[in-house]
Amino acid sequence: MESSGAMTLNWVFYVTAAAFGAVIGSFLNVLIHRGPAFWKLVDDETRGDLISPRSYCPSCRKTIRSVHLIPLASYMMLGGKCANCGASIALRYPLVELAGALSGVAALALFGLSMEAAGVFFFFMVMIALAAIDAETGYLPDMLTLPLLIIGIIANAFDLFNATLGGAVLGVIIGYGAFRLVDIVFLKLRGIEGLGQGDAKLLAAIGAWFGWPVLPPVVFLAAIFALIGVGIASLRGAKIGKETPVPFGPALAAAAASAMIAHGLRLPYFA
Ligand SMILES: [Zn+2]
Repeated sequence: MESSGAMTLNWVFYVTAAAFGAVIGSFLNVLIHRGPAFWKLVDDETRGDLISPRSYCPSCRKTIRSVHLIPLASYMMLGGKCANCGASIALRYPLVELAGALSGVAALALFGLSMEAAGVFFFFMVMIALAAIDAETGYLPDMLTLPLLIIGIIANAFDLFNATLGGAVLGVIIGYGAFRLVDIVFLKLRGIEGLGQGDAKLLAAIGAWFGWPVLPPVVFLAAIFALIGVGIASLRGAKIGKETPVPFGPALAAAAASAMIAHGLRLPYFA
């Protein structure tokens, strides 16, 4: 039995964390679908704002019945199809709900019942939303990266996370500066943007949480994930040339989430 403080964590805690994570994941799906239009990053006024209308099928626009809004279970019961029009539900929906459930369990298992676990769960949720939004739209919204950055600084200022305040502030400056520098060099040499502004802000936010020393391994891991992603995409028949825009956000988010798990496992360097 693992214990955290006076509380003994048993399976009831883990089931609750998984269910809570899956429910938050289903809210994330709404944010991923509607956020980019609401924040005027993409042009689609039909998606509604962040709280209304109620969830609807993007294909036939019929409001989804409450019984069909149960995370993961509904997708499986409906065989991945809309109950009204039979259109396929994007695989992103159950995947985000599953990622939410796993995040709840991971935060609890690695950090116990603590403020730190709550912060880590929030961190995972923002990474999932950013990865999905970047994959679908090519944007990493400021409305997600900037609050993440500010909360990281606050958490470290109050000693709720593992970096010093100085290390966190330097993490922001170095994270943003390094990617902007890459961009400027790319623009000079090739005449195209290598990384977006959003990537630089995301790396700054990651620096705010972990402090600057964790940035090099995170960027290195992200580059490996991005190469794997490109490899899988070309195996599946995508044509990827030198000028094909490949979103770096999902790889960066996956690398940051991996660093968080490494921190939770107290691995050397990440502890
Ligand atoms: Zn439908």
